[in-house]
Amino acid sequence: MADGRFATSISCMDGRIQMVLNDWIRENYRVDYVDTITAPGVDGRVARNDDLGKIIQMARISVEKHGSRLIVVSGHHDCAGNPVSADEHKVHIRSAVDAIGAWEKEHGLAGAGGDGGGNDDDAGGRIEVAGVWVGEAWAAQRIA
Ligand SMILES: [Zn+2]
Repeated sequence: MADGRFATSISCMDGRIQMVLNDWIRENYRVDYVDTITAPGVDGRVARNDDLGKIIQMARISVEKHGSRLIVVSGHHDCAGNPVSADEHKVHIRSAVDAIGAWEKEHGLAGAGGDGGGNDDDAGGRIEVAGVWVGEAWAAQRIA
């Protein structure tokens, strides 16, 4: 396992939100590093279950190899990849939180966490999934 505490961010690839999310996650969840998985308009994509294979694969690495126990999925203002209203983004973000919460069961995420026989202190720990909106002021706000 890598040294340090990791969280996982699944966000749009938009450069305006990367530092905002990285800082917010490290400050609010006391982690050292944020593994960052990006795709354009990813909140809509996860909500629609649209071609998630690579995204799930990357999340699995973060969870199983880095021990991440927090996945933050976000959407943001002025998103070119998912050009919908703020209200629609928030619907997508909440759906994405539910969908990612099911990945543990559906895709065996974290299933290999206790490869020493399941006695790791966090082997039974569920993954927390948080939904974050980055609005016009470019500040992160947890909404789910
Ligand atoms: Zn975007």
